[in-house]
Amino acid sequence: MKNNIDIFNNSVKYSKGVGPSLETTLAKKNIYTIFDLLTFFPRDYEDRSKTVKVNEAMKEQEKNSVILAEVVEISSFTFKFKRKPLIIATDGGTLFEIQFYGGRIPLKLEKGDSIFVTGKFIRGFKGHIQCRLVDIEKPNNEPISYGKITPIYPLTEGLSQKKLRSIIDQEVKNLKANQNYSIPNIISKKYRLKSFIDSISEMHFPSNFDALKSAKETLIFEEFLAFQFIHLSERRPNLLIKKERYTKKSMFDESLNKLPFPLTPDQEYSLNTIKSEMMSTKQMFRLLQGDVGSGKTIVAFLPALIAFENEYQSAFLAPTEILANQHYKTIKKLIKLFGYSDKIKVDLLTSSNTQSERGYIINRLRNGGSNIIIGTHSILSKDVLFKSLGYVVVDEQHKFGVEQRNTLLSKGENVDYLLMTATPIPQSLSLTLFGELDLSTIKTMPKNRKEVLTKYKEKHERDHCYKFLQSHVKKGEQGYVVFPLIDSNETDNNYLTLLSEYERSKEIYFPDDNIAVIHGKMKDTEKEEIMNEFIDGKISVLFSTTVIEVGIDNPNASVMLIEGAERFGLSQLHQLRGRIGRGETKSYCYLILHNEITDTVKERVDIICKTRDGFEISEHDLRLRGAGEFLGQKQSGLPDFRLGDIIRDTIVMQKARHEIVEILSDEEIKKTFYEENKTFIERATLLKKSIMEDNEQT
Ligand code: ADP
Ligand code: MG
Repeated sequence: MKNNIDIFNNSVKYSKGVGPSLETTLAKKNIYTIFDLLTFFPRDYEDRSKTVKVNEAMKEQEKNSVILAEVVEISSFTFKFKRKPLIIATDGGTLFEIQFYGGRIPLKLEKGDSIFVTGKFIRGFKGHIQCRLVDIEKPNNEPISYGKITPIYPLTEGLSQKKLRSIIDQEVKNLKANQNYSIPNIISKKYRLKSFIDSISEMHFPSNFDALKSAKETLIFEEFLAFQFIHLSERRPNLLIKKERYTKKSMFDESLNKLPFPLTPDQEYSLNTIKSEMMSTKQMFRLLQGDVGSGKTIVAFLPALIAFENEYQSAFLAPTEILANQHYKTIKKLIKLFGYSDKIKVDLLTSSNTQSERGYIINRLRNGGSNIIIGTHSILSKDVLFKSLGYVVVDEQHKFGVEQRNTLLSKGENVDYLLMTATPIPQSLSLTLFGELDLSTIKTMPKNRKEVLTKYKEKHERDHCYKFLQSHVKKGEQGYVVFPLIDSNETDNNYLTLLSEYERSKEIYFPDDNIAVIHGKMKDTEKEEIMNEFIDGKISVLFSTTVIEVGIDNPNASVMLIEGAERFGLSQLHQLRGRIGRGETKSYCYLILHNEITDTVKERVDIICKTRDGFEISEHDLRLRGAGEFLGQKQSGLPDFRLGDIIRDTIVMQKARHEIVEILSDEEIKKTFYEENKTFIERATLLKKSIMEDNEQT
């Protein structure tokens, strides 16, 4: 039995050869614990398994060569008026020199000694062959710098390859002797993974390139498993089972026949999945994603009829009052259409309710008098309790934290849970970000949807764009003008900004129209008021920042100008554009570019102009910007994976998720798993800590 040293918590400072100054240097590379050190992987490898002759080495100027040589003479040379040591050596046929500019030969040598010399060989002063030395070592049983594939680490000042190699070598040996951490057996067997410890060893000191490859695969799997484990065990309700509680669904079936439009195939498929899951003994925990206007509301609402018919309540949570209001209206309308207005009682709970209204609604919820509640954060508060909450829908779920989600969940027993998002996430990422959720996707758009004609314009064409908007306003239509920045006090001076352009446009283009400004620094009540006036048609043009991104539904708005469009992400542009083209009138979106149009800008803009599919756009966005920027680095809730790449290694992530889901959803298996894999669980918990620390910095 090994005495399992605690690699996860033991500091590197107790490593032999690591003093206070090296400790500080290692910290610069985020190496604090032995585990950090062991997972500080080489950035590259040099194949030094073969030795060559000097004349061959001289043809290889790209890389270092290894020569077996014999010391002929130890001498000296003059450099900047100082004597420095020099070795003359031979490979048996060719003489060469090694100069030690540092003033010291790093090992004890005598004439006649054999040495392995690694470096580049060039013809230097007076035609002598010189070696630009990288490593020098006498032949021995456990060579570090020759006879094998050698790791090349990313360095920082005060850290040398040699030093790192030697402390890592020592800790790898220590690991092999004193630790038996292994990847959970039930998974490693199934996927024929290599041992964790051997893989760590191979990553640093590979026996050959094949072994290196499979070591890497193993460690990526391990890393993703740990991630999925903490992600799922934290965020997913432990037991995804419920008592069978729904037997009737005639209201659901009847309503389906009364819909004013045929469902799209994806709506139908998603709805079926949700319905079956609700009627089963599996608790639903699902994300419904679909582009703006893809028709998520109806899919989310119909299942509430199943809950109702079986005497359960439903709750709809929205991030803003306007959105809650809209849902309230829509749902009331649908209920009327289906002919259930007398049966189903719907309430709206927001911070706008008076004290007495609030009291009344809360009471109705508690005694079961209210069947469906729609609301904002207000419904999360402690005093909001249900008689029998069975179904919860959260719209624009990214506006809520996990905590808030869980609060609502805890107001009922094994509540079926549906989260919605209109921000399409590429498939490769959704697994990582929403791994705890099952996924339903609506890709097909309703047939009647009008295309938004999208074009880009240069700065000097602005006047034309505003006149275009003006002419549509004259016809009684409405529009948006979106800016990246509120005012020019902000850092970037290359862009026209909201407040000044609003004033200017008011004077030039809209002297007789009612136009208004809206942005994130305004009070919520002020914002809501303006948005409501806009929806009611009292305001013709909204000058805004991206605050309008979520939720305003004004079918009469038909023109959008996006100023400084190059500053927005592709998905964001698409999201903004989704505010128009919601009614009968043909809609137009102009992307006005403030800066010179480079090839990159052109490529991005072309994608938006030509593509309507939000998922396709998000894939492009991800490809063009990379995962880090796409997700907004710190907010992503992702750890710094040492080896895994969430885009390149999607399939591995998928497998890791699958395995952890399997384990967590069976009580027996789960119990055994926890007992048998204590070290793995500890490792996963530490990974979680690293995510939280990252987040705290924002
Ligand atoms: P979102 O996915 O953005 O929440 P909504 O659910 O608000 O979209 O739907 C947008 C509009 O499309 C609504 O007016 C809705 O009535 C309508 N709609 C939904 N599904 C269909 C469909 N299958 N055919 C036609 N119109 C639909
Ligand atoms: Mg919606």
